[in-house]
Amino acid sequence: MMIINTIAELRKHIASQRRNNKKIGFVPTMGYLHEGHLSLVGISRQHSDYQVMSIFVNKMQFNDPKDYTTYPRDYERDFALAKGAGVDLVFLPDDSEMYQNRLTYVDIEMMTDHLCGATRPGHFRGVLTVVAKLFNIVQPDYAVFGQKDIQQAIIIQKMVKDLDFPVTIIVAPIIREPDGLAMSSRNVHLKGQDRSNAVSIYKSLQKAEELIQQGVVQSYALIPAITDVITAGKPKKIDYVSVVDYETLQPIESLKEKSVIAVAAFFGPTRLIDNMIVEKKGDAYTCVY
Ligand code: AMP
Repeated sequence: MMIINTIAELRKHIASQRRNNKKIGFVPTMGYLHEGHLSLVGISRQHSDYQVMSIFVNKMQFNDPKDYTTYPRDYERDFALAKGAGVDLVFLPDDSEMYQNRLTYVDIEMMTDHLCGATRPGHFRGVLTVVAKLFNIVQPDYAVFGQKDIQQAIIIQKMVKDLDFPVTIIVAPIIREPDGLAMSSRNVHLKGQDRSNAVSIYKSLQKAEELIQQGVVQSYALIPAITDVITAGKPKKIDYVSVVDYETLQPIESLKEKSVIAVAAFFGPTRLIDNMIVEKKGDAYTCVY
């Protein structure tokens, strides 16, 4: 497995893979890898021949400076895990390699005024700008993103469509801890009771599914029921519980053909997110989370 720090060198290696007709798969990450990240590599391998993973803690997408400085980092561990998962090349640029006198950014209207966009100003501008840059640097055929960050996955698909990036986006399932907590690099900050209480987020989605299967489809009924389950887990704060349309990410009064139920809450200082995609087929609803 190669580890490359510069854009110029990365381009050289990718070009030689392309000359050999290799399809390039790409998994962008901020490192501190867990099984969720590694599952994305597994999915990428099903579609492509040469696996590129980026590890870059993108300062531009952090609206909270403390969250940036305390974001967990362990590159040696990451390299071992990436290699084991079948990554061929890790791209590990530093800040100056990625952002020199940057004045240009990529942003999206409408789709970031709710969910995480509402309470994390500038976050998605940072995400879209770095992902656009990484797509231009790596020029992958396929790029895999997790459903875990559903708003991110949906707006990246929109950016790719609107700006004609020649890449196919794949959205991969959420990988969870045995008790149901969605894996996240930030989980390492969850201590004691906060860790066990955090499972209430997953339980709230289970409750939502139970209600949906009983025929409850109105947001005014689903949102308080979900909120109650999270509240029972004693979060420091609930950021949001929302029911939105999958395409537009705008709040909806009742479930549509394809909807997202998304939640964010703080347990201690740690902000956790989770979600469920709800699809209607005929009269039946399927919940994926
Ligand atoms: P991050 O390093 O947090 O920026 O995440 C990098 C990629 O891994 C993103 O596409 C995330 O959605 C994805 N990811 C993070 N956690 C999980 C998880 N538990 N299951 C699946 N994918 C995940």
